[in-house]
Parts: sequence; structure tokens; C-alpha cells
Amino acid sequence: MTNQSITLKAYGKINLGLDVLRRLENGYHEVKMIMQSVSLHDVITITALDTSNDIIIRTSSGKIPCNEQNLAYKAAKLMMETYSIQNGVDIYIEKNIPVAAGMAGGSTDCAAVFKGMNSLFEIGASEMDLRNLGVKLGADVPYCIMGHTALSEGIGEILTPLPKPPACIVLLAKPDIDVSTKYVYENLQADTLEIHPDIDGMICAIEKQDLHTLCTKMDNVLETVTGKKYPIISEIEHLMKSEGALQSIMSGSGPTVFGIFTDTEKAGKAAALIRERNLTQEVHVAEFI
Ligand code: ATP
Repeated sequence: MTNQSITLKAYGKINLGLDVLRRLENGYHEVKMIMQSVSLHDVITITALDTSNDIIIRTSSGKIPCNEQNLAYKAAKLMMETYSIQNGVDIYIEKNIPVAAGMAGGSTDCAAVFKGMNSLFEIGASEMDLRNLGVKLGADVPYCIMGHTALSEGIGEILTPLPKPPACIVLLAKPDIDVSTKYVYENLQADTLEIHPDIDGMICAIEKQDLHTLCTKMDNVLETVTGKKYPIISEIEHLMKSEGALQSIMSGSGPTVFGIFTDTEKAGKAAALIRERNLTQEVHVAEFI
């Protein structure tokens, strides 16, 4: 094989709703979440190497590892072992999704490598095969393989596709703080949460294409931990809402905050104010995919 390559978009995700039902004996948490892909994406280029069986990781970002710690590396290794691929791969990650942000940036790169190698080496694995393989590398990986809008249950591996919600503008702002997903889940009082988001009501609103009701019900229980520790999260939410967002909440374990707008100018003004007030410079305008 001469160096054939494939390029894929690896989309980031937000959680329109995130509920934690209980802590499991094994330390994992049972979740009920509405996942939504957004247009902000990394670009993954995978090139087959015909002279070696190495896995080479290169990236535009200084913030992620270029070794076997990278989730793209782990995905490539698992694909090579599972499907007895003899070639090595060179994987270039153009990183646009904020890192350690609650947007599944690592999981989506991982998912893109599964899908890309499946095509590049003409393996013919089904999406379900890849999802079953992907869950070994992270709870969000099966969803990232599937993409779009989905209900995610269990530890994140039980997925039900949902219709795409009405089009809108999604303003993403990632404060310049590092949040560990592990810390957030460890500090969540899962069994005594007073408020649980109405995920079923959100699904109903999506089915009716009712953006306003969907926005009213958006909520994320992990904000009880991350939001308490970092007041900047609610500062950004307040700003987005006072500038016309229908809703603004945190995604995943944070710290990325997103706002839902229907007016492009208002979203642009909110983005400019977030930068001007130095809440963060890492602001992106996106849409649902
Ligand atoms: P999630 O929403 O799934 O919890 P996240 O958005 O909070 O994920 P990531 O951007 O996936 O977080 O990064 C989490 C950690 O994974 C980072 O500390 C990073 O060093 C590591 N990592 C490994 N591979 C990658 C990758 N390809 N892209 C981003 N982070 C990666």
C-alpha cells in the first residue's frame, strides 16, 4: 500500500441536559444525558504507513500529549490489534475543540480514528462493532462514533438517536481554568441531589421542535460542583442571558459554558463582551450538527 490517507471532521459535543441518577458500586455513575454535536471540530488526517507499523501522533496543539497517552493513539492501537492491521499510521490532529473542557475533545478524536481506520483499511466493521470497541477507551466514545443528537444512558454506552433540535446559534465560551472530570464526579452528591433535569420533557420538546421549551428545561447537575467552585461559570451564563440567550448552562463536567441564541447579532455582541471583560478569550460561534 502506498501512503493512502483519509481526513475526517471530529465534532465536539455539548450536553443539552445532564442528569446523574446514582453512583454505582464500581465508582461509575448512571447518567441520563442529551448529547448534541456542534460544528466546532478537530480535523483528523490518518495516513497509512507501508514501511513501518508505528503509530505517529502529531498535533497543532501544545496542550495534548503526542504519545501513547493520546486517545487517538489508543484508538489506533486497538484497531490494529483487533483487526490485525499490518500497516502503521501517522495521525495529525488539528485541534480546535477546547481541551479538558467538557466537550469530549479527546473522545471525538478517538472516534474519528476508529471510523477513519475502518474506511482506510476497508475493514467493514459496523457502527455497533466500533461502538463496542470504543467504550473500552471512554464512556463518551460510543456517542462520538454515532454523533448528532442522542439520549445517553447507563454509563454513557446506551444510546438512542433523537431528532435534531431546531436550528439556533450556539455560543461556546471556555474559561481559562482546568477542571478534572474525576474531581467533579467524586465531589457530586449524586444520591442527595434536590433537582433533577426533566430529560423526558426535553425529549418531548425536541420531538415537537419547540426550542423555547427545550431551552427552559436545559440543566446540568454537574454545575452543583463545578459552578460552586468557579464563579466565572455563572458570570458567563448571566452575561449570555442578559445579552439575549434563551438559555445558558455548562457542558459536561465543564468548564465550557454554552448559550443558545436565535439572533446572530446578539450572539456576536455577547461574544465580544465576554472577550472585552476578559472572562475568557476562548469563544466560538457554532451550530448543531
Ligand atoms: P469529556 O467531555 O469527555 O469529559 P473533556 O472535553 O473534558 O472530555 P478532553 O478534551 O477530552 O476533555 O481532555 C481530557 C484529557 O485527555 C486532557 O487532559 C488531555 O491531555 C487528554 N487527551 C488525550 N488525548 C487527547 C486528544 N486527542 N484530545 C484532547 N485531549 C486528549
